[in-house]
Order: sequence, then structure tokens, then C-alpha cells
Amino acid sequence: MNTMDKIFSYIDSHADEMISDLRRLVRIPSVMGEAAEGTPFGEMPARALGEMLEMCSEAGLYVRNIDNYVGTADYYQTEEVPELGILCHLDVVHEGSGWSVPPFDLTEKNGRLYGRGAIDDKGPAAAVLFAIKVLKALSIKPAKNFRLIFGTNEENGSADLTYYRQREKLPEMLFTPDGSYPVINAEKGMLRVTHRISVCPKILSLSGGKAVNAVPEYAEAVLDITNADVSAFSHKFEGVTISAEHADGKTKITAKGKGAHASTPENGANAVTALISAVSEICGDPKLSALSEMFPYGETDGLSVGIKCSDEISGGLTTVLSVISCSYETDGVLEAKQDVRFPVSKTSREILAALTEKAAASGIELNADMISESHYVSEDSALIKKLLEVYELVTGENGYCVAIGGGTYVHETAGGVAFGAEFPGEENNMHGADESISRESLIKNAKIFAAAICSICGVK
Ligand SMILES: [Zn+2]
Repeated sequence: MNTMDKIFSYIDSHADEMISDLRRLVRIPSVMGEAAEGTPFGEMPARALGEMLEMCSEAGLYVRNIDNYVGTADYYQTEEVPELGILCHLDVVHEGSGWSVPPFDLTEKNGRLYGRGAIDDKGPAAAVLFAIKVLKALSIKPAKNFRLIFGTNEENGSADLTYYRQREKLPEMLFTPDGSYPVINAEKGMLRVTHRISVCPKILSLSGGKAVNAVPEYAEAVLDITNADVSAFSHKFEGVTISAEHADGKTKITAKGKGAHASTPENGANAVTALISAVSEICGDPKLSALSEMFPYGETDGLSVGIKCSDEISGGLTTVLSVISCSYETDGVLEAKQDVRFPVSKTSREILAALTEKAAASGIELNADMISESHYVSEDSALIKKLLEVYELVTGENGYCVAIGGGTYVHETAGGVAFGAEFPGEENNMHGADESISRESLIKNAKIFAAAICSICGVK
């Protein structure tokens, strides 16, 4: 048997060890809590980190806890920056409701393992650890050092990684199994801005959208108009229902569409842009009309707001006008938040300049709230070539690079990529009720990680 076959057959026959490690992690409800001295993200994420470092230490790795922000586990004890880094996170999102099994335990049913963190990201973390245990058990010695890096704040802004990067150099070869296979090598840049306009006194209130990074599914307006007629709009916006209620000489207009993530706005139906279009027409408000012209219903490529662009690597820019709020009782100023995902060949400065010019031409004030440049690692990099080779070896499937509109854990790193842990076409209910991973996928992940370590670090 060659080395890889030995590794794979050991993983097949000892997978229960990995599953009991995963159970230890899932049993700690490591949702972000209140910061206290020594526990920057609350008690539970720190406890999950402690548990993982203990398991790594039991496995013979050299562990360090960096102030409960991040923990590391090295194969060899050396001062040098390791050849390879594998980045996982041990914090999880809130359990929410609707579970058919206990969220903070691991339940195996019909070949699937259920529990919060099963796929995001405790399952992958347990698989990485198991990959190393297998190398140790088979006395396979990597030629170069590698480091596991465990964060505790990925779900709430990744302040863990910022803290680590301020203190330590990340390995040049770095991957995180906190996305999907085969390899995510391009992540669009992100820009969030707020547009401000004064609206006419007939608009008593205007509101819609809950999250700036989502297509809004609901919006409503109250107008100081008796019996405003919305019949012209009831079927005008495909996917959005506009209706009106009349009382006390006022009209309340509601728009119901369909939510979607801002990185895939074509899957939603934007209630906010539909409502703005209807209200601007009913009230004849020139400023609101200008805003509506910049964000026509159904448009997600930024054409009318002057930022449409695309490239071969990451595809087209997408944008969503997502959250609006305005009340005439306060100041009559409408605030409208816009989320932009721009291709890797553009900079935030170019996009912001185009947006500012367009807004200024319509007398709209614009503020940048958040800027994040794009992230791109060349397909020709040694890291990606090796990862795809390993992916093909283990799965028998074709390996390729993927570009996404969202940002992964490695977005702010120099050369990191997302590699796993979700296989194409899998549905694992990440962040939802009954989050799970199949036993088979968990095993495949462990095989891929063991093979990746051997391929990148070499074997003595
Ligand atoms: Zn994650």
C-alpha cells in the first residue's frame, strides 16, 4: 500500500475518534458572549478554544493560547513561520429555533451528524485535528512545520484574526475550510454607503429592510394623502406585492418582496426599490424620483448608478439598496443604505468616485460607511495547484477555482484561500436549525486535509 492509501484506510477505520472529538466541541455552546477580562468574546468561545488546545496537546502538538483570541497548534516546535497554516474557527452562531435534535450535542441520524457547528466550523476543525492524529499514528513525518490556527470570533467580525495578524506573521500558504470546495480564490470587494435626501412633507414615514447585506423583503410608507391610489403599481414590480390601507386621511403603503443575500441579489425581489418607485410617483417628489432613477426596481448590476462593471475572474458587480429609514416627525431626511460587491479588478476608490459623482449630480449626499478591498489569489499559485490536485485525488471530481461575492475568513490575509469544507451541491443548513454534516463528507474532509499537509509540507 502506498502512503496515501494507508492514510485513507486508517481514516475510514478510525473515523469514530474524529466524531467523538467533534462531539466534545459541539457540546460547548461557543456563541459570542459579553467580553470580560481575559475572555474577549465571552466565556464560551474561550472554553471551546481551551478544549481544542487540550485535544491538540493530547495529540502531541505544540500549543499556544494567544489571549483567548486565537490558539495555535504546531507540528514541530520552531521559531520560524510555518510552511503551511490551516485556519478554523471555534465560535458558532446562535442556535436559533426549530431544531429537531439538541443543538449543542452531536446526534447521528441516517448517516448525518447534527449539531451547531457541525459544518461551520467545528466539523472541519475536528477533521483537521484527526488528519494529524492519523499522520502520527502511521509515523508519517511532514518535512516542514505546519500550524493549525483556531479563531474564536469569525462569526462576529473576525477581530480574532486581526489580533493575531498584529502579533504574528501568517504562513504564506494558508487555507481555511470555512467555505466550500473546490477552492475559492476570488472574493469581491465590498462597499457600503448611505445616501441622504430630504423628502417632501407628504411622506410621513418611509422604512424597509433589516440588514444592509440583504435584499429587503418588506418596506412600508405612510403618506399624508387621503385614499392614495396604488392600483397602477399592484402588478408593476414582478415579485413584489404593493398594497394600501386608508385611515384618518392617511395612506399606508406596503411592499412585500423576497429576501436574499446581498452577494446574490438576483435571487431576491427588492421591496425597497419597488416602494420608492411607487411613492415617488404618487407624491411627485423630485429628490425621491432621482433616487429611484438611480435604483430602478429589478436592477442589480449598478448600471443606473454608474458603477456597472465586470471581469472574467469574478464576474459582474452587484448592488442592493437595502435599508431605508425616514420620518417626517424627526427631520424628513431619508437615509438609504446601499451594499456593493465589486469585481477583483476594481478598487473601492474607483467605485466610490463613480457613486459620488452620480449622487452629486442628483443633489444626493453620500457617505461611505464601510470599505473592504477585494481578495484574489492567482490560480497559478503553488498553493492552489496543490490543493486542487489533492481535491481531485480524494474525490475523483474535477477541481476548479470559484469566485464569490461574499468574504471568507481569509479575506484580509495576503494569500489565503477557502478550501472546503462544503462539497458542491451539499445542503448542510449552515447557520440554520438542524445544521449537519454527513459522516461521509467529514471523512472525505479528513482525507483531503491529511493529503494536503503531505503534499504541501512534503514527507520525510
Ligand atoms: Zn464559518
